[in-house]
Amino acid sequence: MPKVIIIGGGVSGLSAGIYSRINGLDAVICEKHFKAGGNLTGWDRSGYHIDNCIHWLTGTNPSTDTYRMWEQLGALGDVQIYQGESLFTCERDGQTLSMSRNIDKFRDDMLKLSPADEKEINSFIKAVKAIQGIAGIAGENHNEKISAGQLVSAAPHLLKLYRLTTGELAARFEHPLIKDFFTAFFTDKFMALMLAFVCAHYCGDNGGVPVGGSTAMAQRMADRFESLGGDMRLCKEASKINFDGRHASSVTFTDGTTIDADYVIVTTDPAMTFGKLLNIKMPKSLAKQYKKSEYMRFSSIQSAFSCDTDTLPFKGDYALEIPPEYRLRLGAQNVMVREFSHEKDFSPSGKSLIQAMAFCGEDKAKKFIELRENREEYAKRKRRLSEIISSLIEEKFPELKNKLNCLDVWTPATYRRYVGSEMGSWMSFALSSNAPPLRKKNLIPGLDNVIMASQWLMSPGGLPIAADGGRIAVETIMKKERKKFKM
Ligand SMILES: Cc1cc2nc3c(=O)[nH]c(=O)nc-3n(C[C@H](O)[C@H](O)[C@H](O)COP(=O)(O)OP(=O)(O)OC[C@H]3O[C@@H](n4cnc5c(N)ncnc54)[C@H](O)[C@@H]3O)c2cc1C
Repeated sequence: MPKVIIIGGGVSGLSAGIYSRINGLDAVICEKHFKAGGNLTGWDRSGYHIDNCIHWLTGTNPSTDTYRMWEQLGALGDVQIYQGESLFTCERDGQTLSMSRNIDKFRDDMLKLSPADEKEINSFIKAVKAIQGIAGIAGENHNEKISAGQLVSAAPHLLKLYRLTTGELAARFEHPLIKDFFTAFFTDKFMALMLAFVCAHYCGDNGGVPVGGSTAMAQRMADRFESLGGDMRLCKEASKINFDGRHASSVTFTDGTTIDADYVIVTTDPAMTFGKLLNIKMPKSLAKQYKKSEYMRFSSIQSAFSCDTDTLPFKGDYALEIPPEYRLRLGAQNVMVREFSHEKDFSPSGKSLIQAMAFCGEDKAKKFIELRENREEYAKRKRRLSEIISSLIEEKFPELKNKLNCLDVWTPATYRRYVGSEMGSWMSFALSSNAPPLRKKNLIPGLDNVIMASQWLMSPGGLPIAADGGRIAVETIMKKERKKFKM
């Protein structure tokens, strides 16, 4: 039985491990941390559970292929899927707008706010419905595909969103709240089509959260791997892949041990793989992406607060506008605050948990990574950030005054340290307008048996793409073995 060493026990690695075992390969996952999951994780602080990852999980609608993949991977188990009534809410000058789970309600709410924006509102909704039809998640029973005629009529609306950034789309609306709404979640730089995709999946009941959140989902996948006879090695950090000509023969680890391999699957950020784990340059086609301005890496600054009440004045995710004087420091225009009333075990009884997140681009991320070299200054900056964020929350919701206590602050430097991505990025490249979708080969020119399985091969990354990358890597191995791939 060929032996596959999988470097990294995130979702890509867990998926690669599970599909290896389903296909009768001998699989060893080597993860540098004490637990598997990578970005799909969470941690405990002072009696609260902080959830790092899932805001929406594409593939929670049972009529989709992605749902079937999650089932195969043991990711959903038999837990309930929580889908809130709205993905996020934005407020300006006392008016609010939410991306409602019901797409028609979302459209009607926008029309009520701004009849003058009817043409743009209908164009966006038409594109969203077309995406739902393509994904087979439209309609009441969530399994209606789009007809060729519908696709042709929606094409101009889809193309328009492909050509616009979220900022450019926002500028087409007259109403200030709708303008803010379209940039609140993904900033003003991303391709507007990506927002339409998120809306399509969420409103197609295909973007829920398995109850228990990220840590529990990662553990279910790790359990599935081990139940299939997979070998999970934790606290096992790979330092070098060893070669016999074009053929990877083994992997050496920081603890001084070496494990022989017939195949090596690498799930780490290519920027940290090539020239480090692999003593060769990154393939040109992939290296190009790191230089093009329309493919962006991003990370976030986050903080978590305990709250001395179990009755919060907002539901789900809520976009708070950052006043101009703090924008430079936070590197963002909005901070998204999130509550977890659907997770009874995340906070003690009578209390609640609030998490806050502000996206930041590469430049800001780089600064945090450099700042962490000076631990005292870094700790000071984190304290200041949590003070700014808690004062923003208290200003918006005065009833929370003196009820918030900071549990933790984490930055791009945290992600760089934890998952080892170069810029602390936790998704793949985000696309700006007019950027062709990224899909890169998983084989490395000049090497026979090293396969990449990573969200970095396909934009915009995320959990389904990571899981798919693991599956495709095993498919590649089975092709090389001249055997049929089993799902
Ligand atoms: C705040 C946040 C919110 C998110 N929200 C969503 C969401 O709502 N929906 C969604 O779909 N996705 C979301 N994501 C993205 C999602 O978490 C990632 O796309 C996915 O987890 C990537 O998985 P991966 O296995 O490719 O990479 P990673 O998670 O980065 O895993 C790589 C693994 O390799 C390990 N490793 C690194 N170097 C070595 C080494 N030398 N030796 C051994 N092990 C090593 C790391 O420790 C890590 O476990 C979010 C992420 C974050 C952080």
